[in-house]
Amino acid sequence: MRVLVIEDEEKMADMLKRGLEEEGMEVTLAYDGDQGLAAGKSAGYDLIILDIGLPGRDGLEVAAELRASGVNTPLLMLTAHDATDMKVRGLDSGADDYLTKPFAFAELLARLRALQRRLKTDDTTRLQISDLILNLITRRVTRAGIEVQLTNKEFALLEYFMRHPDEILSRETLSEKVWDETFDTLTNVIDVYINYLRNKIDRNFEPKLIHTVRGVGYTFKTPSNESRLMTETRA
Ligand code: CA
Repeated sequence: MRVLVIEDEEKMADMLKRGLEEEGMEVTLAYDGDQGLAAGKSAGYDLIILDIGLPGRDGLEVAAELRASGVNTPLLMLTAHDATDMKVRGLDSGADDYLTKPFAFAELLARLRALQRRLKTDDTTRLQISDLILNLITRRVTRAGIEVQLTNKEFALLEYFMRHPDEILSRETLSEKVWDETFDTLTNVIDVYINYLRNKIDRNFEPKLIHTVRGVGYTFKTPSNESRLMTETRA
C-alpha cells in the first residue's frame, strides 16, 4: 500500500508518515502543491492524503489538476477548519473524503480503511454523469455543484441508474435490484420514487437525465448518447 502525503507542516507530515508506516504502509512525503502534484501524477499511489492549505498550488488546485489529468487515486483531503464551504469545495475539486484538523489518528485510519474497502469491492469512489456527481464514500450528491439531499432509497436508486447508464431499466429490474422485492408489490412505489428523484436532480437542471421509456420503464441517459435511444419519451 503506497501512500502519498502532501502536507507542508513538517510536524504533521512526520506524524502521518510515522503513523502510517507503523500500519505497514509505504509513505512518500511532498511539502508543497507543485511537488505533490508532480508526485501524484508520476507514480502509482494507492492513496493520497492532501492538505488544503499549501504553499504554491493549494490542495484544491492539486486535487482538480490530478483529476483533470486522469489520476483516479482515492484522495483524502485535510482541512484546517471545520468550514463547510472548504469541505464542499474540496469534494467538488475531486477529493473522495475529508478530515478536519485536529483529528485523532484512529479516525484517519478509519477513513482510509473505508476508502480501501470501497476500492477492493468496486474500484469506484465517485460516479459522475454530466454535472451530476455521487460520492460513494461521503454519500454526498451534487448537480452543477449544488448539493442535493436524498433519502437512502433515493440514493440507492440513483446509484443503480448511474451504474447502468443508457440501459433501459424495467420496473421489474429496478424493484429487484434496488428494492430487493418482486415487482407486483412495488409498481407504484417505483414511479413515486422516480418522481422524487426527478424533482431533486432533474427538475431545475438541464439536460434531463432520467427519461421514461413508454411501456417499459426508465433510462438514465448520458448527454453524449442523446441520439442513441430513439424510442424514449419524457414523462
Ligand atoms: Ca497546511
